[in-house]
Amino acid sequence: MDGKALAARMRERLAEQVRELERRGVTPGLSVVLVGDDPASAVYVSNKAKACQEVGMRGETIRMRANTTEAELIAVVDRLNASGNVHGILVQMPLPRQLRPDVVLRRIDPAKDVDGFHPVNVGKMLIGEPDAFVPCTPSGVMALLREYKVQTAGAQCVIVGRSNIVGKPMMALLVQPGVDATVTVCHSRTRNMADHTRHADVVIAAAGRAGLITGDMIKPGAVVVDVGINRVDDPSSQKGYRLAGDVDFEAAREVASLITPVPGGVGPMTIAMLLENTLQAARRSIEQSA
Ligand code: NAP
Repeated sequence: MDGKALAARMRERLAEQVRELERRGVTPGLSVVLVGDDPASAVYVSNKAKACQEVGMRGETIRMRANTTEAELIAVVDRLNASGNVHGILVQMPLPRQLRPDVVLRRIDPAKDVDGFHPVNVGKMLIGEPDAFVPCTPSGVMALLREYKVQTAGAQCVIVGRSNIVGKPMMALLVQPGVDATVTVCHSRTRNMADHTRHADVVIAAAGRAGLITGDMIKPGAVVVDVGINRVDDPSSQKGYRLAGDVDFEAAREVASLITPVPGGVGPMTIAMLLENTLQAARRSIEQSA
């Protein structure tokens, strides 16, 4: 499953929709707040800002020093909440230790919470309300499954990982009426994980452990979605490492009917869904002010 290609098609559509909103006098705007100087976070944030600009949205990055206080960060979030030009707000995780992520995330106006982490949006997603902002990675996985016409109704789906960012929202989306999967969620305390994955029609790996899912854990013909992004040592590469998913790709592709690569699978879809959420937020702000 080619997430890179699907994300590129989505960006083309989004660019057209952004132009349409501009004709109505609104440029969708995303503000990303980066606290500290974690190098991985800096890369994610600059990718997000670049993606915004590519589709004609306003992408702003607010950089704050590592010793920022909670009051300072909250003051920035409040300012963004109040700004008419900002439709989406994203505070990049992880935050430095002195900042409580739950306090900060709850401060973001749910109508601008394009990451979908505010409890209001989490609740709306769980009960299937259409106006929920859904976290971008699980929503990107759903878009891939739809694009490749993966039969989810009645399918056994096994998710490996139960984080609030990936595993749990993935579970909520897959069990919704209309998607209709039967879902098992595995985690680090799961016994005999292979007994679960071997029965799965769809395996979604989101554990952050390179090579956790081996070829013999996949049922022949199953669909495999690899969310994991792991750095593995690779002396032959210039950087000394390469990116790998949680799935042993070469072995799993021999048995799976469809599989996502890493990179080029779920990663690009995550950013596309963030743009999509920002566009939705901008649209709703127009509707509300009409
Ligand atoms: P996380 O918060 O660290 O959660 C990992 C989950 O995997 C936890 O629930 C953990 O179980 C479970 N787990 C860890 N080791 C396991 C094992 N050996 N067997 C079974 N379960 C195991 O990570 P996350 O934020 O969900 O991210 C997961 C992966 O996806 C990471 O590699 C991350 O980089 C990647 N990711 C990719 C994208 C993208 O755009 N493609 C977006 C977000 C994340 P416990 O709960 O029991 O500890």
